[in-house]
Amino acid sequence: MMVGTVARSTKAFIMDLSCLSQLQKDAKQSFGDHKSIIKRVLAGKTVLCKECQQPIQFALVSADAPANVSCAKGCTQIELDMS
Ligand SMILES: [Zn+2]
Repeated sequence: MMVGTVARSTKAFIMDLSCLSQLQKDAKQSFGDHKSIIKRVLAGKTVLCKECQQPIQFALVSADAPANVSCAKGCTQIELDMS
């Protein structure tokens, strides 16, 4: 029953702009979530993706690309803001 839960892409996210107030609420919520996820991942703790329940792991993609934390399926993908 995992069909349809693949990759919440940025595109799909933008399509949802019709319900803007809800989106802003969600964005606020997920911003806090993201920060705490990053904190916990970097502290070496196991954090499970809300979508697929796979562990979220720290990944340094390449020297040029920003580091990110993501789950195996990619539905959770949070770029690290190193600045
Ligand atoms: Zn996931």
